[in-house]
Amino acid sequence: MPIDSSDRIKVGVLLERASGERRVALIPADIKKLNSKATVIVESGAGREAGFDDNTYIGAGARIAAQCEILEISDVIVKIRPPGVNEIPPSGRTLVSLGGRDPYIVESLRKRSVIHLALERIPRTTRAQAMDVLSSQASIAGYASVLEGARALGMMLPMLITAAGTIKPARMIALGAGVAGLQAIATARRLGAVVHGFDVRAAAREQVESLGARFALVDAGIGAGENAGGYAGEQSSDQQAQLRRALSTHLATMQLVISTAQIPGRPAPLLIDRETLGMMKPGSVIVDLAAETGGNCEVTRPDETITVNGVRVMGPTNLPSLVASDASRLFSGNIRSLLTYLLEESRQLHLDASDPISGALLDGQDTTNALVAAA
Ligand code: NAD
Repeated sequence: MPIDSSDRIKVGVLLERASGERRVALIPADIKKLNSKATVIVESGAGREAGFDDNTYIGAGARIAAQCEILEISDVIVKIRPPGVNEIPPSGRTLVSLGGRDPYIVESLRKRSVIHLALERIPRTTRAQAMDVLSSQASIAGYASVLEGARALGMMLPMLITAAGTIKPARMIALGAGVAGLQAIATARRLGAVVHGFDVRAAAREQVESLGARFALVDAGIGAGENAGGYAGEQSSDQQAQLRRALSTHLATMQLVISTAQIPGRPAPLLIDRETLGMMKPGSVIVDLAAETGGNCEVTRPDETITVNGVRVMGPTNLPSLVASDASRLFSGNIRSLLTYLLEESRQLHLDASDPISGALLDGQDTTNALVAAA
């Protein structure tokens, strides 16, 4: 049953129920900006863990409701994590969430005739940059990885000269200098570490150096090439083995390693094997941001810390949640930009298979039975 008679589209925001997830997909400030086009209904408590209480949502023009009502009345459901079994909207509705890389989620939503606008499919173009949740959250993860690594390290990152003696600055390297790696480099620099970076993309060297870090020159690595989208290609197993050996001499001199190397749609490249762990100093820490796609380190386990030869290998999979307020702020800004783009003047979702953004999000899904698609 509709809750009001306006022709505005109804956008429902669900509470995230995944363990350890503290973010929320839309914050009050962005709801205020969407008010002229959409009626937003927020699940009670959805923003609490990120610092946004129900009253602030009400003040921004949202209505608070229970999960089942939101699922029943919303034209568009917005959330961060892929939907759980009780979070699937009715047939013909639209779901905006992550989950586009999980074939089970993609298939089950298609079977239920839910239009899934999977956020992983936002094209990495200038026009879609403001909607790119992978970039905004990777940036937060890069920042948080340094703080988590520093906490586990048992050393200070900056140099300290005191009457009791001098402490040398920690040596840190970011493997993979994309969005997360560059933010990790910038954060470690601010904290006073001696910072290095490495990436197989030749273009990354200038970016690493522009942040005041040193680029680790590893001949074996450069040359994986960049594909048309500006991403690294996958290396052969021989190239990977050569790269691991060449990197190991650098890694042996580091105390903090933030590894972020990923290849879209493929398992993460293996950059640190047990042999390298054996060369590193006990007490060193590796924070492996690629844990979810197999890890850059041979022993990485998602959301666990494994210690080998005194080297701690951490595999956190949801670092943005540790900075839930600002991570939600950026995620929400991305969602607001996406909804504003899709709503245009019509107050209806405009899902057009030939549009570079909504076409990529649709990825071939049929919108014929969608309740609010008007292309
Ligand atoms: P990502 O998370 O897929 O990968 C992280 C990094 O790992 C990349 O820089 C990649 O080159 C690197 N890598 C892959 N294999 C490696 C290996 N064997 N050894 C070392 N490093 C390896 O990438 P990302 O951070 O999302 O972005 C990568 C590039 O895309 C960057 O240049 C970024 O600026 C660009 N980008 C552009 C846009 C846009 O234009 N809207 C948005 C996001 C990212």
